[in-house]
Amino acid sequence: MKIHVSHVSEEDGLEIHHLFADQNPGLQSPDCRIVGRPSIDAFASRSGSELNLQGSVTAQVEIPCARCLEPVPVSVDESFDLSYIPSADPKLLVEERELVEQDLQVAVYKDDCIDLGDVVREQIELSLPMARLCDEECRGLCPTCGANLNEQQCSCGDQIADPRWAALQQLKSESN
Ligand SMILES: [Zn+2]
Ligand SMILES: [Zn+2]
Repeated sequence: MKIHVSHVSEEDGLEIHHLFADQNPGLQSPDCRIVGRPSIDAFASRSGSELNLQGSVTAQVEIPCARCLEPVPVSVDESFDLSYIPSADPKLLVEERELVEQDLQVAVYKDDCIDLGDVVREQIELSLPMARLCDEECRGLCPTCGANLNEQQCSCGDQIADPRWAALQQLKSESN
């Protein structure tokens, strides 16, 4: 869903309530998997070509467990207060984006359009925890064979990886 900046009334602003479709490809982020339908509730106000967008994004997502990579559910409820300024020249967009990324409160729009899908994706990414475990006791993956140790016991721990250990082991059992 897109907002046309010039269509936002300078006097009344614009109320936005939008529930996104399932599996919306524009919302997909490499950092998480979106489950269910994200929603945005916001109010847009405009002063000339500058637009302010204030509201919140809610979503249910899954991120991989930091140890075993199994999906962990995370509820997103992120408030935002964003200012948008127009990009005068589309060719400047990349540089301007780099500038505004240092100040997350200011963003650039072009062609009179702000894509709410971008807002939702960015707010979800901002709200994600750095790391999340499926369980405090998660045993993670075996570094040798990659088995999920919560689900199965692999035999890597039993095998003697280093032949020098095998020799020591041999000596030990002989001296016993
Ligand atoms: Zn885990
Ligand atoms: Zn293993």
